[in-house]
Amino acid sequence: MTRMTGRDRVQAGDPGPVPGPGEAPAGGAGRGRSATLESPFVAPQVRQWLQETRRLFIGGRWEEARSGRILPVTDPATGDLLAEVWEAGAEDIDRAVQAARRAQEGSWGRMPPAERARLLWKLADLLEERAEEFAQLESLNTGKPVTETAVADVPLAVEHFRYFAGWTTKWTGQTLPVSFPGEYLAYTRREPVGVVGAIVPWNFPLLIASWKLAPALAAGNTVVLKPSELTPLTALRLAELVQEAGFPPGTVNVVPGYGEPAGRALVEHPGVDKITFTGSPAVGRRIMTTVARDFKRVTLELGGKSPNIVFPDADLDKAVAGAMMGIFFNQGEVCCAGSRLFVHKDRFDRMVAEIAERAAELRQGPGVHPMTQMGPLISRAHMERVLGYIERGRAEGAELVTGGEPNREAGPGFFVRPTVFVGTDTMTIAREEIFGPVLTVLPFEDLDEVVRRANDTPYGLAAGIWTRDIAKAIKVAHRLKAGTVWINGYNLLDATSPWGGFKQSGIGREMGSYALEHYTEVKSVWVNLG
Ligand code: NAD
Repeated sequence: MTRMTGRDRVQAGDPGPVPGPGEAPAGGAGRGRSATLESPFVAPQVRQWLQETRRLFIGGRWEEARSGRILPVTDPATGDLLAEVWEAGAEDIDRAVQAARRAQEGSWGRMPPAERARLLWKLADLLEERAEEFAQLESLNTGKPVTETAVADVPLAVEHFRYFAGWTTKWTGQTLPVSFPGEYLAYTRREPVGVVGAIVPWNFPLLIASWKLAPALAAGNTVVLKPSELTPLTALRLAELVQEAGFPPGTVNVVPGYGEPAGRALVEHPGVDKITFTGSPAVGRRIMTTVARDFKRVTLELGGKSPNIVFPDADLDKAVAGAMMGIFFNQGEVCCAGSRLFVHKDRFDRMVAEIAERAAELRQGPGVHPMTQMGPLISRAHMERVLGYIERGRAEGAELVTGGEPNREAGPGFFVRPTVFVGTDTMTIAREEIFGPVLTVLPFEDLDEVVRRANDTPYGLAAGIWTRDIAKAIKVAHRLKAGTVWINGYNLLDATSPWGGFKQSGIGREMGSYALEHYTEVKSVWVNLG
């Protein structure tokens, strides 16, 4: 594969036009495949990999699904077929769980921690070597800009595997000063939970899979990973690297399929010890209800309606950039999107005008084109959902400042223009998670008022604060009910920094040492020395 990235080409002054999405391919792409595959920015290997119907990865082997069904994968930039993969059904899930159990009780479960570390590190190296290929594949499948997958999704996934590789040899128990009459050695061990069922969404398919795989494997668990039916590609490609790295068969199994039946079969399977889920609150609630039956362990990373607060003493240029990044990064399909922008009344008009102007200038097009700044939404259904919220905003009296419609010029796919409303707290667009490029800007007058309004939501995933007064920022950060608070920044993530929600944004934490607590059981061992 050429080492020249899209970004290099832009810098070399060769961006090429954003391809007309309807432009017919001149051979190469398979029959009926999306024209995006003909872009000169898609490497031949990626195009070729997408030609073959991809199989399930179960017990270290590539298997056709017993379901007998094929899952079509759509290119969000055109609405046409991008690839096909076998679709896991309940029987396939069962086979994957059995393979994971065998590996957990066999070679993976018995492997020394340092050996597990080497394999995780090897996986990170292999992923890094193929970073460009993964960046393209993720961009093609999700529609997001390749300039983002190349600097965020892929390198952050690599770092995640490296970070947790380090923990395998450092996650210890304690010796306990017990007072029970007699003489004892009492200590704790951290043991793997067992077989982990990991269910991930479509907005960061590779990265969120790595948030689950890396800590689960570091702690000695085995995993059955079910990617979203919309975005199974990078997970399947990652499984090839798992195989190449030499993980024992069954340690990682990848079974793409729909929520029903595949996701449900995984959640209900008696051979699964823990479910780790990222997705919508509605599905999270269903999963929690189901696992309550047999008390499976569970981690839930759900939705958000995060406040981003701009105080009057903020550096306005930085706050504008932060507000844009907060809502338009990844087309707004971000759980922590700063979708409620609270701006002090003294800065309100200027800030709204600047954001609207910059939003209208964002270049939309297929994600793999390096000039694209915002891609299409993931699916037609999701686009319609987002447009429905925009209509609701209008109907409830919000002032539309920019956007508010599909962008047909960007292509036949699922493009929605970056949209900015001025609204009020009670409007639907200011209360419900839209999961798209729709910002509601809300004026405020004083600090206590904005803290109260920012917290007035069932969610509590993240929040942003913009001010030059650091003492004020820290006091506000402590009062906000959110799992992560960013001061003079937004969307900052790192493997060391725990991630998860207060309130209805979830249960448990990913990343950092906190994640390992959720992938291990604590065992007390007593030895009578008498
Ligand atoms: P979704 O809940 O529709 O789907 C998520 C996953 O669950 C998919 O793999 C899907 O196939 C599966 N699923 C669906 N029904 C199921 C069922 N009955 N049983 C088991 N599995 C089932 O969510 P989505 O639309 O893919 O993702 C968007 C949502 O994810 C948003 O609400 C967003 O906020 C949330 N999200 C949260 C985080 C976080 O870290 N908190 C990160 C990304 C996305």
